[in-house]
Amino acid sequence: MEPIFKRIILKLSGEALAGDKGSGIDTETVTNIAKQVKEIHNLGVEVAIVVGGGNFWRGRSSKDMDRATSDYMGMLGTVMNALALQDALENLDVITRVQTAIEMRQVAEPYIRRRAIRHLEKGRIIIFGAGTGNPYFSTDTTAALRAAEIEAEVILLGKKGVDGVYDSDPKLNSNAKKFDTLKYIDILNLGLGIMDSTATSLCMDNKIPLIVFGIDEPNNIVNVILGKKIGTHVKED
Ligand code: UDP
Repeated sequence: MEPIFKRIILKLSGEALAGDKGSGIDTETVTNIAKQVKEIHNLGVEVAIVVGGGNFWRGRSSKDMDRATSDYMGMLGTVMNALALQDALENLDVITRVQTAIEMRQVAEPYIRRRAIRHLEKGRIIIFGAGTGNPYFSTDTTAALRAAEIEAEVILLGKKGVDGVYDSDPKLNSNAKKFDTLKYIDILNLGLGIMDSTATSLCMDNKIPLIVFGIDEPNNIVNVILGKKIGTHVKED
């Protein structure tokens, strides 16, 4: 089967790297994800990964701290995840570059849009760390921003513990209904918690399609790339 996309942003939440541990990094889980990324890369897909940091720290989770400071801690957490993913991919002989939105030149390249695009054209996988570099934003917003900047065709949002977008939390409500398709405006109007409103608006305004799918199923990243009907497909209208 042929891949249905040529250039994608894969957004992985920090939790997706933690496996069953719930926090930190589970190397086996990261290796499994890296194997799938290698597989889609071998199919000829240009892959840029935006990684979250919720397995280490979320800025809003500390009520007593200065929010900006807390958010910088969150962004640094995403860099640890980016390095773990890079390491796992390079163990599989996949060439990668980490680019960070906060400069740390001894560790990774700074984010430079044209350079990122060049890496993709040369067949390297990019991992974007440190979010947008700004407090008060999320890595979902980063995924939307980078997708627009590098002209990705789609954002693949791999979620842990859920296989798409539901009208209410399926863990709390056994009657929760899963959407096969959805419009961005519905996410905003219905207050669905799948992405924050900043990220949702950015995707909507820039007409970037999104596929929300469960990362727990082995091979789902490959399945999405091959066009199998899984998860929830979100479009502008
Ligand atoms: N963050 C930030 N600006 C950004 C991206 C992330 O301040 O542009 C911080 C924020 O504190 C966030 C944390 O980094 O809570 C981790 O990112 P996120 O919560 O998006 O990770 P995920 O939930 O995807 O694991």
